[in-house]
Amino acid sequence: MARILLVDDSASARALLGVRLRDNGHEVVEVAHASDAAEMALEHPPDAVVTDLWMPGISGLQLCRLLRAEPATHHVPLVLLTASDDRRSRFWARNAGATAYVTKTEIDRLTEVLSDLTSSPMTRPPPATNPGVVTRGNVQERLSQLLDASLFDSTIAGEVRALSQKAEELETLFEGLVALASDVAGYRWLALSTDAAALPQVRVKTRLFIHTHPDLRDAAEREARDALDVPPPPERRKPDEGDAYFLTDRRAVEAEWSTPPISLPVRFGASNIGHIALAPARRGASHDDRRLIALLAGELGGPLRMAALVAEARRLASTDTLTGLLNRRAFVERIDKARAASEKQLFPISVLLLDVDHFKKVNDTLGHDAGDAVLQGVARTLSSIARKSDFVARWGGEEFVLALTSTAEAGARVAAERVRRAIADARYILPSGAEHRATASVGLASAESAEWQIDDLLARADKAMYAAKHRGRNRVETA
Ligand code: GH3
Ligand code: MG
Ligand code: MG
Repeated sequence: MARILLVDDSASARALLGVRLRDNGHEVVEVAHASDAAEMALEHPPDAVVTDLWMPGISGLQLCRLLRAEPATHHVPLVLLTASDDRRSRFWARNAGATAYVTKTEIDRLTEVLSDLTSSPMTRPPPATNPGVVTRGNVQERLSQLLDASLFDSTIAGEVRALSQKAEELETLFEGLVALASDVAGYRWLALSTDAAALPQVRVKTRLFIHTHPDLRDAAEREARDALDVPPPPERRKPDEGDAYFLTDRRAVEAEWSTPPISLPVRFGASNIGHIALAPARRGASHDDRRLIALLAGELGGPLRMAALVAEARRLASTDTLTGLLNRRAFVERIDKARAASEKQLFPISVLLLDVDHFKKVNDTLGHDAGDAVLQGVARTLSSIARKSDFVARWGGEEFVLALTSTAEAGARVAAERVRRAIADARYILPSGAEHRATASVGLASAESAEWQIDDLLARADKAMYAAKHRGRNRVETA
């Protein structure tokens, strides 16, 4: 025998249903108002609640939401009854957490559902992974706190999802996330890391983004790496591809140290694609902090996956697959972009165009794979020589290009000679294990005025490179 709370504003409906349920051996407590039912249920949780959907004052749906949100009644099965079988009511019933939905005309089904629900030993659902809303006061007050909280949740969720529209890069996604989070919470730092599973097909290195105050930067990075299990990089890379990305918004960050961070996985489908962590300000993580992080973690999967895919698509579109260098189009684009951002840092500029000598012979005598290995080796040599501010690319075939920023002709001649020698001195290990030597002819062109055009520089460097071929190869010629 189960103890059932039967809630309906209609006395005749209560009487009718009450008789049937008692006939089925249940103990039935009839209640006319949902608010009374809520108080009774919270005080003394029944085995099940059967409630009318539409009632004046508090509706069955609201009663359902309230009982679901309260730890005392979270597990109590609740059946919603309505006169009509409309789809929207069904949707809301499910959404509010009703266990079942039965139309009043199907009393037989109601008794079936109830005996199913009450005969199997009550299995308490596992505790919710997301921290619930804590409500206080009378039923009406609790309901309005619940509604406020769910409106807040939907608003934040909507804003996080909207980030995927803007987030073409992981950096911009994180910036958007920071703008949102710092509006609603104070923290020492907020961090996001991506897991390799963000892009299962390609190996994407773990990336870490941290928002904190400049003064806390080092400590925040240490704490965040610890919380997110991201080991420090073996050495600092070039600033534009470093793991950590720092934003410094004085307003958002409260500099008090004492409490451990909260960290949660960001999931997409069945896999963790990242982690988010927040180090609370002041004494400790508040319930609101925990709810916020759970909410952000829950909604970030789609946008993070999207941003990772877009970033990867961009990377693939701009890199040469054999050597990993920029391709021709990306080379020109990057220079244009850098020039638009700061002409001063580029000019004077010099361009080296390199063509591997007698390369066809490598393919013809040692095979195409050997040729590929030589191209990869030349690419490595060039990358190791280039400064952070230079641009290196595979121009096509066995031709490479190097743009030396802030370098006039005299300096570029020295650099070109160094590049030529490095290529000639390198040992290229072929797939067979054999060592191979290679040389390249280098054409150099330098901009004479700040009005330089990259196409013009490249055309002059190309001419100079052909002159180097004609004059015997393995040499530098200047346009
Ligand atoms: P030169 O000293 O005059 O530059 O002679 P070369 O043999 O280097 O010049 P040529 O332009 O006749 O030959 C270039 C060769 O590079 C031909 C082409 O098949 C080969 N090649 C182009 N791209 C690749 C590639 O990705 N891999 C390999 N293995 N070979 C490539
Ligand atoms: Mg060539
Ligand atoms: Mg060649």
